[in-house]
Amino acid sequence: MVKLNDNFFKLNESYLFSTTARKIREYAAANPDKPVIKMGIGDVTRPLIPQVAAAIAKAGEGMATKEGFHGYGDEQGEAFLQEAIKKYYLRIAGVTLKRNEIFISDGAKSDVANFTDLFSNDNIIVIPDPVYPVYLDSNMMLGRKIVFIEGNEANGFLPMPYEGLKGDIVYLCSPNNPTGAVYNRDQLKTWVDFANANGMIILFDAAYEAFISDSSLPRSIFEIEGARTCAVEFCSLSKTAGFTGTRCGYTVVPEDLVIDGHSLNKMWLRRQTTKYNGTSYVIQKGAEEVFSESGMAECMKNIEYYKENAGIMAKTMDELGIWYTGGINSPYIWLRCGMDSWEFFDMLLNEIQVAGTPGSGFGKCGEGYFRLTAFNTHENTLEAMQRFKKLLAK
Ligand code: PLP
Repeated sequence: MVKLNDNFFKLNESYLFSTTARKIREYAAANPDKPVIKMGIGDVTRPLIPQVAAAIAKAGEGMATKEGFHGYGDEQGEAFLQEAIKKYYLRIAGVTLKRNEIFISDGAKSDVANFTDLFSNDNIIVIPDPVYPVYLDSNMMLGRKIVFIEGNEANGFLPMPYEGLKGDIVYLCSPNNPTGAVYNRDQLKTWVDFANANGMIILFDAAYEAFISDSSLPRSIFEIEGARTCAVEFCSLSKTAGFTGTRCGYTVVPEDLVIDGHSLNKMWLRRQTTKYNGTSYVIQKGAEEVFSESGMAECMKNIEYYKENAGIMAKTMDELGIWYTGGINSPYIWLRCGMDSWEFFDMLLNEIQVAGTPGSGFGKCGEGYFRLTAFNTHENTLEAMQRFKKLLAK
């Protein structure tokens, strides 16, 4: 008789986006004359830059020729893309990496979840609340013990280590999804020192690093002294370059990360060469353009566009005196709604036809808060904020 992994039955049903989508669908069907402005889903809305699309098209056409055809590539990624990312780290963060420390993938979600393969199931996992739900679910699937660290207004939704915190692996996400909060250098240094002192590993999700424009804030954990012996960094082209549907990401595993005499870099290479057969060559050619200076300058125009939307939302919250995080170095605004976050969702949908995401969907500590995203047009964002002001003035 087959025995199933019954940890799956302990997972919370992922109702969040299916429920918000259903509610929006039902509202739209009943009120066809009242279009809903969607500020809920964290998916980009602007197309790929032409330089990337042209490289993908060229590589795709090349595949039909004898000279341009590529079969299996290196599981850890093509050298040209690793080199481009290496230069990018040096340029934006002053961080020197070795080419073999950069592993190309089909996105950060799979790497974040797959990296758990390297650790025994009796580790204690430390997870911030609220946060991107993949960290929790991927560890729950393995039946691991989870300890939550609380995000709240007092710590600006940036939980810090404390004396007596017991754990082996901690997930940090900065800029954070859903709160948009960003750890500063001192805070990350505190985490790095804590991890090194306590034999802990930091799994650092930098999927939104390109939204950081404040040069005093770290874009990579490897800007912090000591991180090479305790941290792994996951990154993605999804929000940086609009690759949510195109799919490409990368993970940095430093050679200095050694546990019990075992190199995590070698273990991850072993894992990837066994279970992953490489990111599409065609897509890697497109990704290479993202990291060129001209390509990144074009991608930054899209990011600036989203950040103007975030700025419009932040200004509205300032005017209304609503407490919030994010919005400056992130595409998210996380606002205090002061009521049940699902009730707030219903109120915005029914009264002003604006859809966001209830904070409780990202963890217990998200109750009473609400996420709005900047992935929309300026016109829609302005209109949504006008409606928001009118509603709250009532
Ligand atoms: N990490 C965070 C914090 C995210 O918010 C997301 C997507 O929303 C991802 C990772 C997933 O990235 P990818 O599209 O590269 O799988």
